[in-house]
Amino acid sequence: MTFTPEKAERISPPQETTAPAEKASSIASSTQTEEYTIVHTAPRKKPRNTASLDDDEPLIDTTEALAKNSKKLARLQKKQQKKQAKSSSKVHNFLDLPAELLQEILGHLRPSDVRYVAQINSATREFIRQNEVSIAKDITERRYWVLRRCFPLPVAFAEVDEASRAALLNPQWQERTGINKKPYSHIKALDAQQICSCPSCLLAWNNLNVVLDFAHFQWNLDHREPIPMLPRGSNPDWNRQLTDAHARIVEKAMISPLCYAAILERHLNSILGTLLRQVRFPPKVPIHRHNKPMTTAAAKTVHPIRLYHVTESDAATEDDTFLERDGRPSYEMPFHRDNYYSLLAYVPNRKWSREEQRWMYYAAGAHDRDLMWVKDRFTPVSAPAEPPGCSHEEFVASFQAAMTTGS
Ligand SMILES: [Zn+2]
Repeated sequence: MTFTPEKAERISPPQETTAPAEKASSIASSTQTEEYTIVHTAPRKKPRNTASLDDDEPLIDTTEALAKNSKKLARLQKKQQKKQAKSSSKVHNFLDLPAELLQEILGHLRPSDVRYVAQINSATREFIRQNEVSIAKDITERRYWVLRRCFPLPVAFAEVDEASRAALLNPQWQERTGINKKPYSHIKALDAQQICSCPSCLLAWNNLNVVLDFAHFQWNLDHREPIPMLPRGSNPDWNRQLTDAHARIVEKAMISPLCYAAILERHLNSILGTLLRQVRFPPKVPIHRHNKPMTTAAAKTVHPIRLYHVTESDAATEDDTFLERDGRPSYEMPFHRDNYYSLLAYVPNRKWSREEQRWMYYAAGAHDRDLMWVKDRFTPVSAPAEPPGCSHEEFVASFQAAMTTGS
């Protein structure tokens, strides 16, 4: 075997440290010199302080970590991992967020979105149910500031004071309100035993039902399909079911603020859909039999200036801010489905003030004023039912006292 000079070096055995007894034997074999060989398997170290060494060169620690393996260490690591998992995130689900933050988030959604969120699970539904009033308040203030003032809810009959109830159920008054109920085939008549039938509540009931009916036929209007008309005096099953369904929604809205907000959302969509219909659903150009487009006159429903100057960017905000611009007031309710073809934006209960250059809303407080009016004129002279153990004079006195308190 041969060794290169770099790989091996020869070392003579130490001679000075040998014992005197061994010296003789070594002298005897003096002719044979013993040699040891050291073999360097690793590359030779680079000499230090060489010219090529750069002091600025960053030092890289190539030392491999020692594998630690002990039960104590494993226990410590496990404990640390547990601690980190606990402290890093305490929010595992939507409902782990603080209630105020959850409410704030839900208050930015559309009512239809909140309904979808409520379907996540029963706990979310329960949270929304418990906080419905404040969530709906945030939504309506943010998105339906105008519509909320124009479409007030009717008042439940149970909330009306005793004296006014007697006046409202007076047959003479009910006969008069019949004029407002009977002719409408697209609105279910208000139940005077359930809902206040003062003039403003009657109008509020009719308006909300009309809004739902108008929303129902938006597809027909968008696609220029005729709305089915009812022969005079008839009320087919499909119409009865439709008007019943709308009445149930309005009744639910009286106890559910989110349901009320959902009605306003639908009406805002109807208004935007109507005003932007020419943009979203342009009339089809009829094709000639030789496949040549025919020139047609502009559609009669095209308006040179769009009401409220509404644009698609207004629609994208999904709120009713554009309704605060100058526009046309709505003094007349659509009393028949025929009116839907020409109805642009039904926004009642307000009037434009030229002096102040803004809309004046007058529905607030109308129920109290109207109820007083009905009570003054239609309070029955004789009590409808005399309480037992009470003379007529005593009852009239208590009745008058109740009226005074109610006013
Ligand atoms: Zn009322």
